[in-house]
Formats: sequence, structure tokens, C-alpha cells
Amino acid sequence: MQSMTRKEAHEIAQILKETYPGLEPFLHAKNPFESLVATILSAQTTDRQVNKVTPALFAAYPDPEALSRAAEEEVMDYIRSIGFFRTKARNIILTAQKLVGDFGGKVPNTMEELMSLPGVGRKTANVVLANSFGQASMPVDTHVFRVSNRLGLSRSKNPEECEQDLRKILEEESWNYFHLSIIQHGRDICSARSPKCEICPLRDHCRYLDSLKKEGPSC
Ligand code: SF4
Repeated sequence: MQSMTRKEAHEIAQILKETYPGLEPFLHAKNPFESLVATILSAQTTDRQVNKVTPALFAAYPDPEALSRAAEEEVMDYIRSIGFFRTKARNIILTAQKLVGDFGGKVPNTMEELMSLPGVGRKTANVVLANSFGQASMPVDTHVFRVSNRLGLSRSKNPEECEQDLRKILEEESWNYFHLSIIQHGRDICSARSPKCEICPLRDHCRYLDSLKKEGPSC
């Protein structure tokens, strides 16, 4: 399989940007605290489901102080419709308590500090750094991982390796929009089960499609 050059990776990022213009972060949030909580809630749940529950949750608990004092049962009532709501209720309360206790009630803006919070892994930290602090970041979710590997931007076995591959091959200033646009592409066209390669604007750059062409007709 032909390896990917930085030039071709740049072209892919450009095509994605032109195909999906004007994207905003998928999780609704007015400040870093809301972004952090919404992203913790989004693990293994769709963004749409999270966006349905967060307006009432943030109205009840508008800042870390309020959430740090909340009872777990009450928080669960706001987020009961999303997956793993018990664990997530506990994690967002513990996170709020740590924000109040260790960070002066503010969301920290470094990877290390964010990852010290309960329920915050590398992907969540990257999302908050990108969306709330405008730092060049590369959050790798299931769409980013799948589509990047199909295209040949990465040849990774796990999200962390994928993140490192993407950080190496793409220019830093393109990271944040690339992340949004490749997720949109994974949702709209390059789905897990039935990628619509026949209408894909990236078909001339895709190693997965190349491999299918070598295997036989069609496509
Ligand atoms: S050509 Fe097919 S596999 Fe490749 S990115 Fe497009 S939809 Fe996905």
C-alpha cells in the first residue's frame, strides 16, 4: 500500500474543509465548564443525546461550585437517558469537586491537569483544549480513528497511536477543523458498516478504496 505524504494529507484536510464548511463543536457549551461536563457525558453516547440533557443540567448546576454540592441521585435524574448515567453522574460531581478544591473553580488548560480529573481521558481533554481554549488538538473518537485508517492517514491499532500519526502528518493549524470535518465525514459518508465510496469526495486519496479496487470489480 502506497504511504501517505504530508502533501496528500494536506489535500485531504482541504477537501474535508471545503466539503463541510462552517462546522461548530458538536456538543453545545457556553464555557469551558459546560464543555468539560458535556464531553465527559458524551462517552459512548451520541452528541445529540447529550445536547438534549445538558440545558436542564446546566440550568440546575451552572458552575463547578453548584455541581460540587449536588446529590448524585439528583444529577442522575437529569442525565438518566444517556448511557452509563450512574458512573457519569458520579464523575461529573467528583470533577466539579476537584475543580473547586484544586483549580480555584476553573477548568485547567493543560492536558496533564485535565487528565487528572475523574472521567477525563485523553480524548475528552483534547476536545476541551480545542473547543474551549483554541489549542491545536487532535481528539480521536471512533469516526476519526476509522476514517483516518481507511484513508491511510494513519495505520494505528488504537486511538493514541492514531492521534500521534495525525499530529505528525497534518499541519498544526489544520488540526482542530480537520477533527470536526472528519467526524462529519464519518457520520455522513464513511460510516462503519456501509461507506458510500461512490459519492465520496476523498475517493482519489483513499487507501481502503484502492485495496478494494485491487481485489475486484465494482467501486
Ligand atoms: S472512499 Fe470510501 S472508505 Fe474511503 S474515505 Fe471515502 S467513503 Fe470512506
